[in-house]
Amino acid sequence: MTARIIDGKAVAAELRRAIAARVAALPFKPGLRVVRVGDDPASGVYVRNKDKAAQEVGFDSATVHLAAETTEADLLAVVARLNADPAVDGILVQLPLPRQIRADVVISAVAPEKDVDGFHPLNAGRLASGQKGLVPCTPKGVMHLLRAAGASLPGARAVVLGRSTIVGRPMAQLLLAADCTVTIAHSRTRDLAAECRRAEILVAAVGRPEMVPGDWVAEDATVIDVGINRLPDGRLVGDVDFAGAARRAAAITPVPGGVGPMTIACLLENTLDAALARRGA
Ligand code: NDP
Repeated sequence: MTARIIDGKAVAAELRRAIAARVAALPFKPGLRVVRVGDDPASGVYVRNKDKAAQEVGFDSATVHLAAETTEADLLAVVARLNADPAVDGILVQLPLPRQIRADVVISAVAPEKDVDGFHPLNAGRLASGQKGLVPCTPKGVMHLLRAAGASLPGARAVVLGRSTIVGRPMAQLLLAADCTVTIAHSRTRDLAAECRRAEILVAAVGRPEMVPGDWVAEDATVIDVGINRLPDGRLVGDVDFAGAARRAAAITPVPGGVGPMTIACLLENTLDAALARRGA
């Protein structure tokens, strides 16, 4: 069979339209501040895209750009100021941070109710214990895509490749909360191929170009490729061999145009949720 392509751009555009309509009906503008430290060009692109998307849905959005030599204490002071600012509903500190700054210390300093990245340990704990909280944007976007693809989740065998705190682990928690039977595979997993072949839902978040060959994909599986890898020739590919997997899967996300656009859309959704919760709207 040939898989249906799950169009992340279209699903993200729809979500952004819905957010813009909800914002237009509010008596206030949700406030988002994206903090960038240093001049890493990739971070610059991400930050600009987030700011632009936030403006487009009607948020009060701004970037706080700090010098590469900013100290951890200075960054913590900026975070404290944003935590205390009533006009700010969401704070996102763009990673990676320069070497002199401990990311975990900064992440833990963001007020949990403004933690629109969903990385604060309190929000991670809420997710793990089934409580309401802010959820990391990329795995949240994957759940939107699975629903848009009509994947049947309760009881499904889901395999997540990767166990990072920003993608793999929260992904597994969300699938578990949706009643999937979840396996988390990683670099120490003994037989990755066998684990993948059992998956009705396969989410790859490893960061290795096309490491999942088509014959690791079960017939009729739904495949979500989170990986974004640039090849030496400049092409962007995922963690899954798209052509091989598409011959067996029922549905699959492309790279680019799959999970990527959902991450920013879910950042907007988290910011709106944070604004409504904080302001009791
Ligand atoms: P990390 O490097 O933090 O985690 C990678 C995970 O993959 C680890 O758990 C690691 O296992 C596992 N892994 C590495 N090599 C292998 C292997 N050979 N076999 C099995 N597992 C392996 O990456 P992230 O989670 O941050 O990101 C993963 C990918 O997703 C990247 O390509 C990244 O660019 C992309 N990404 C895309 C986003 C989007 O918006 N679409 C957003 C965020 C990330 P172990 O723990 O054992 O080391």
